[in-house]
Amino acid sequence: MSDVPPPSADAVVVGGGLVGASVAYELALGGLEVVLVDAGTPGRASDAGAGIASPQTFHEPDEGWYRFGAAAASHLRRLVARLAEDGVAVEARAFAECGALVLALAEHEDPWFEEQRRLAVGRDPEVTEITPEEARAMFPPLRRPWRALHSPRSARVDGRLLTAGLRDAAARRGARLVADAVSAIDAAGPGGRAVTTVTGARVACDTVVLAAGAWSGALPAGRAPLPVAPTKGEIVHLAVADPAAGTGSWPIVQPVLNFYLVPWPGGRVACGGTFHPDAGFDVRPTAGGIRDLLRECTAIAPGLAEAAVVETRVGLRPTSPDGRPLLGAVTELPGVHACTGHGADGLLLGPYSAALVAAGILGGEAPPELAPFSPSRLR
Ligand SMILES: Cc1cc2nc3c(=O)[nH]c(=O)nc-3n(C[C@H](O)[C@H](O)[C@H](O)COP(=O)(O)OP(=O)(O)OC[C@H]3O[C@@H](n4cnc5c(N)ncnc54)[C@H](O)[C@@H]3O)c2cc1C
Repeated sequence: MSDVPPPSADAVVVGGGLVGASVAYELALGGLEVVLVDAGTPGRASDAGAGIASPQTFHEPDEGWYRFGAAAASHLRRLVARLAEDGVAVEARAFAECGALVLALAEHEDPWFEEQRRLAVGRDPEVTEITPEEARAMFPPLRRPWRALHSPRSARVDGRLLTAGLRDAAARRGARLVADAVSAIDAAGPGGRAVTTVTGARVACDTVVLAAGAWSGALPAGRAPLPVAPTKGEIVHLAVADPAAGTGSWPIVQPVLNFYLVPWPGGRVACGGTFHPDAGFDVRPTAGGIRDLLRECTAIAPGLAEAAVVETRVGLRPTSPDGRPLLGAVTELPGVHACTGHGADGLLLGPYSAALVAAGILGGEAPPELAPFSPSRLR
């Protein structure tokens, strides 16, 4: 990261999490001079996110939302391949189809499980109900569940690795990465459109993309702040006793009524995630949050009780009032585009949203996929 931005650029992207890094990469690929400004604020969601990329097992019955998620999952697959062609070989662990298990842990959970089964099987014919024993063979620390559904195409994404890879790829394509915080966005000032930072730098530009995650609503963008707020989440990372246990090929575990488990190569299992919508920008891990995660996750998978607690991550989910992202032109602010508000699904959806927003900027017309997510729906 540099600290000195150039005096002008075609586009300034505000925020360098997974979403901003994706926008910067796509715009640079499209031939624009791009400046990516990132404040490096503690609580970046892309560093903390669990990494579930599984539209097949979305709880919501909204089919349009599922199709957006499925397109995003396909985009992630293509993106990782494209990055490799562009000289940035993000490790295989950045994205992997590890599968997912949806579980009912007890008989009284049947109604929720049945609803999930109906939705998932309707979306993907490869999703099947399996026996409790088959589920335990796939994820050995698991208790005996009541019922289990296997979704083989569900995937996990490592937000940290993918964000780093996208920043690297954007820089290789000429984007300037600046470590600074944007303090003002002047969409139509007398001196033209420009972004100012806390260190006093000013970058004149044609286009601004707001991709500052949970901080997007706090950006001083005239009288039209975006309705995005933080939802704090905590995740505990465990290391299983046997590092050769093959955790990289274990599936994600998603109980219908409880926390989830996301296995990673090298013996790591992430237990997540708490929801604290009233915690504001406080990113301290709490005793109660960690207690709940460890209690529930070791009840789901008693075989993890001997695992070592190796890390606690806290991130702020960028949350919009209707739970859908804000994508595309901000009508009150000419030349300003939003790419934010991805809530609990940004690791899956963010790179795809970014590609669509970038296509709208490069082509001068928003792709039809963005229509349901226009920021103006919330005005
Ligand atoms: C506990 C937890 C679990 C999650 N699990 C999943 C999951 O399993 N699957 C999934 O798909 N998603 C998951 N998510 C959601 C996902 O992590 C987020 O939706 C996504 O990472 C948001 O990315 P972003 O780039 O918009 O925001 P962030 O990653 O938060 O990045 C925003 C960036 O903007 C910068 N910034 C802020 N203000 C300014 C400013 N004024 N100037 C310049 N820069 C600024 C910040 O420093 C930060 O780097 C999870 C999130 C959490 C917290």
